[in-house]
Amino acid sequence: MAEIKEEKGLLKQDEEVVWHAMKPFSPNSTIIAEKADGAWVTDHEGNRYLDAMAGLWCVNTGYGRKELAEAAYEQLKEMAYFPLSQSHTPAIKLAEKLNEMLGGGYVFFFSNSGSEANETAFKIVRQYYKQKGEHERYKIISRYRGYHGNTMATLAATGQAQRKYKYEPLAPGFIHVAPPDMYRQPEDEALAPTKLQSVQDIDKVMTWELNETVAAVIMEPIITGGGVIMPPENYMKGVKEVCEKHGALLISDEVINGFGRTGEPFGFMNYEVSPDIITMAKGITSAYLPLSATAVKKEIYDYFKGTAEYDYFRHVNTFGGNPAACALALKNLEIMEDEKLYERSKTAGEALKRTLRQKLQHHSYVGDVRGKGLLIGIELVEDKATKEPLAVEYVNKIISGCKDNGVLIGKNGATVAGYNNIITLAPPLNITESDIDLLVDTLTEQINKL
Ligand code: PMP
Repeated sequence: MAEIKEEKGLLKQDEEVVWHAMKPFSPNSTIIAEKADGAWVTDHEGNRYLDAMAGLWCVNTGYGRKELAEAAYEQLKEMAYFPLSQSHTPAIKLAEKLNEMLGGGYVFFFSNSGSEANETAFKIVRQYYKQKGEHERYKIISRYRGYHGNTMATLAATGQAQRKYKYEPLAPGFIHVAPPDMYRQPEDEALAPTKLQSVQDIDKVMTWELNETVAAVIMEPIITGGGVIMPPENYMKGVKEVCEKHGALLISDEVINGFGRTGEPFGFMNYEVSPDIITMAKGITSAYLPLSATAVKKEIYDYFKGTAEYDYFRHVNTFGGNPAACALALKNLEIMEDEKLYERSKTAGEALKRTLRQKLQHHSYVGDVRGKGLLIGIELVEDKATKEPLAVEYVNKIISGCKDNGVLIGKNGATVAGYNNIITLAPPLNITESDIDLLVDTLTEQINKL
């Protein structure tokens, strides 16, 4: 193993050899994490941070769960690997458990990341229509401001130009529509779902694109990475109705929304819909090991059962559904149920939102405090009347002020549109009450300091 060159220091060495995700070159702001427990991370110099983003919105049951490590260890000793072109018990048990959580009727394709789960969904959708003889249906509709992954197709589905434009041309066949946004364009939630403007926009786009060319809509129930953007309560229902009208499928991207983040096992469960395909990752293992899944309604899967050549799904994933990751995921889901973390996310999230509103909504820069469960966005504005986004330098001041005081929070939005003004919070679902108080106090102090 290469020596850690102490005389240079880890930060210097890191700067030389590690290429960081999603960040401008800034070695001095890097945390080199060494230990973590509950909602707390300790760096290589012993500094402790309250991680109010649960990593990348993913350590849902919190850090330091020995029983998760043990579940993986036991499985690795028993059988470390076997491909899912065949099968193994942990994958079967996990698929059974997920199917039970979804109320039955789904089959599961396992991969390793959210991007792969979505990429898999797109390939399934396109092949499904070919199997059905609807050869023209290939277009996939998604929303601006949503994020669906880093591959050439999932990035094509992503609606954030700043993440995309240097990698174009991306995969063809992706169409974008505007997302609803109850802060910036409030809609009347008393209207029937299909009467909402944001739903009618999708309806029109499907017609104008020729509905027989449209294969699916992919959406997060609540847009997360775009800045926790809240839809009208009946929006997802409207989208599903419009999909049915035009013969297209609905894919629910639950990569962040899933596994309790919004106070329900899956985000779509807040909205009384039954998606055709559900993609999941992150919280499935609380990120202890890589794993993702694409859940597909049996009626769709049935089209892949033919015996003619290539009727089956020609998609292989070497590591997908690794037995240790599946065993760990099962344990992780058991913990969520035993500790009632879905309910905890709902009640703690409501309480946190209420407190943040009480403490912050009077502040001239705080335009909106919103979210569901322990998924919270705080939109900062220059002016409450015009909703002009607050300049990113101020947002950065809050983020670095919190970090200097040992609290890690997120920042989201869309740089090119000037919207990089939304603070996001997505702590582990078992974050303690005193840690919530610390988070609120630190954040309030930093905002009041502006
Ligand atoms: N979909 C959504 C909604 C996401 O937030 C992400 C990642 N943040 C992805 C897909 C891609 O997941 P991964 O990074 O695991 O590929």
